[in-house]
Amino acid sequence: MTQATHTPTLSTAATFRALKCKECGEEYELKATHVCEFCFGPLEVAYDYSAIQRQVSRASIQAGPNSIWRYRPFLPVATDNPIDVGTGMTPLVQANRLARRLGLKKLYIKNDAVNMPTLSFKDRVVSVALTRARELGFTTVSCASTGNLANSTAAIAAHAGLDCCVFIPSDLEAGKVLGTLIYGPTVMAVQGNYDQVNRLCSEVANTHGWGFVNINLRPYYSEGSKTLGYEVAEQLGWELPDHVVAPLASGSLFTKIYKGFQEFVKVGLVDEKPVRFSGAQAEGCSPIAQAFREGRDFISPVKPNTIAKSIAIGNPADGVYAVDVAKKTNGNIESVNDTEIIEGIKLLAETEGIFTETAGGTTIAVLKKLVEAGKINPDETTVVYITGNGLKTQEALQGCINEPLTIEPKLDSFERALERSRTLDRLEWQQVLV
Ligand SMILES: *Cc1c(COP(=O)(O)O)cnc(C)c1O
Ligand SMILES: [Zn+2]
Repeated sequence: MTQATHTPTLSTAATFRALKCKECGEEYELKATHVCEFCFGPLEVAYDYSAIQRQVSRASIQAGPNSIWRYRPFLPVATDNPIDVGTGMTPLVQANRLARRLGLKKLYIKNDAVNMPTLSFKDRVVSVALTRARELGFTTVSCASTGNLANSTAAIAAHAGLDCCVFIPSDLEAGKVLGTLIYGPTVMAVQGNYDQVNRLCSEVANTHGWGFVNINLRPYYSEGSKTLGYEVAEQLGWELPDHVVAPLASGSLFTKIYKGFQEFVKVGLVDEKPVRFSGAQAEGCSPIAQAFREGRDFISPVKPNTIAKSIAIGNPADGVYAVDVAKKTNGNIESVNDTEIIEGIKLLAETEGIFTETAGGTTIAVLKKLVEAGKINPDETTVVYITGNGLKTQEALQGCINEPLTIEPKLDSFERALERSRTLDRLEWQQVLV
């Protein structure tokens, strides 16, 4: 069946009506702009929810494409032909072995380590941003990235035939750099941290008229993260979970999962229910966790120093809103150190067969910490968001995992190695000489 046969349920009536300041409520036209002219607050897309309600039902969503575009009336694009590279509808896996290990009963992993096309949740936000960029007439798209966003922007721009120039800190992991270059964009490796890259990009956005997905297109871009909320609700059988745990970089994804759940309640797709929101940061870059811990409603920027580079934003744009969501939902925001992050990566791999990157290791380690502190009830249906793929951050594991057993191509060499491996503690495998 082609997508076209479903189009009666995908009406062309646009459901998004304005950009609205999150601080003062001032409204703006639906252009490429992201800051309020009066109070400098961030702009967010506002919708006509009665129009959405008329367009969607559980059945219309289920009849839609097997991607984020099944939720199109909730997304800020007017076209009936969005850029659809199969992004979204990633597995929601019941994580029984990890649950048992931690002492939980109903634990799920939302596995965006296998999101299409570039194996991170960023494909969601970029699919929306580039669809909107095309509608607004941009021919060159760009971003300030901690790695995954550059992969995603370059790949989806290539698919859409848009020119692309991305900016990354020069010290990123090899997998993230190659995973961008392969799509043929211009790549600027900036000698500085993400926050410096971001500042430079704000200046370029003002002078070059490019569509920066996370700067002037940010209000549209960030809406893509709501699909992480919609999918979990749909995959749980049109029900909300009790507790979610997700990583925090700028804090956007965290607040948009919350918005997604609220919207599903608003239009009657799921029943209202309190959902607790807990956030994860790396200790080496934890300005949001620090603000939460100290009960502050402002963020003190930090200089990042952690292996979790993809979430290392020292001055997070949506940090205060993330603190607010955790507070008002009776959740928590915790941080873990680099050793715990590596243990988190290994724990998820060994119990569930999912290889995540450092951001996912951070999230699993925070999950463990929250359980040990009694901050997750074993009976709660808990969903953990795994947002990126481990093959992209292999450097982080150097010296932390076993080496293969090298043997001669002979049966007795194999038998001797097997014998030794069984008598040695697994951690000593790497020392075995056959
Ligand atoms: C960007 C990113 C995040 C967090 O994104 P924000 O919306 O900025 O908080 C989480 N995980 C991974 C793997 C990312 O690349
Ligand atoms: Zn304002």
